Amino acid sequence: MHRQRLSNDLFESKMNKIQVKDKSFAISIPAAKIHEQVCRVAAEITRDFKDREPLFLPVLNGAFIFAADLLREVQIPCEVSFVKLASYQGTQTTGEIREVIGLAHDITGRDVIIVEDIIDSGLSMAHMIETLEKHNPASISVCSLLVKPDALRVKVPIHYCCLEIPNDFIVGYGLDYDGFGRNTKDIYTLC
Ligand code: 5GP
Ligand code: MG
Repeated sequence: MHRQRLSNDLFESKMNKIQVKDKSFAISIPAAKIHEQVCRVAAEITRDFKDREPLFLPVLNGAFIFAADLLREVQIPCEVSFVKLASYQGTQTTGEIREVIGLAHDITGRDVIIVEDIIDSGLSMAHMIETLEKHNPASISVCSLLVKPDALRVKVPIHYCCLEIPNDFIVGYGLDYDGFGRNTKDIYTLC
């Protein structure tokens, strides 16, 4: 068992490049760096939402790993409920924004924290905020694992962000290329 674990670690440390379908990706944000930043943001949320019992709304599918790691570091009473909103196909934005689905929780009067994988143009987040505002929550905060500042096309409030990245296409740690590549511990950039 112990030998097995050692060889797996060795294997992972050599995963500087991965192939997802027809594209090659090179490691850009190692797991340790992600973990460090997730813990920092979780500590900020823990401090800011003490006694507020926030409702986390992770956006599926991309934010599922980030949300799982973030929520386990948040040290206050809170609830979590998942929503869905898709705007991407392949490596190009379609510009098409779909409806928010799966809002099962009554968010009226609640302090809501949207948990996103990445903010690129900002259009998805702007639409999400606009939709949630109609339900009269007490507050809406935005928490994104990644932000591409150079790609932003609309102004969106970003209260918590783990890392800012260049305007490149990335996969891993929940983010996909055509449905694949989500199940990695590190984040990779298109070569
Ligand atoms: P936006 O509406 O801000 O342009 O796009 C947000 C959504 O597009 C994200 O939630 C994510 O699903 C997808 N997206 C944006 N940039 C990337 C990227 O570099 N890689 C992947 N896999 N998805 C991205
Ligand atoms: Mg997303």
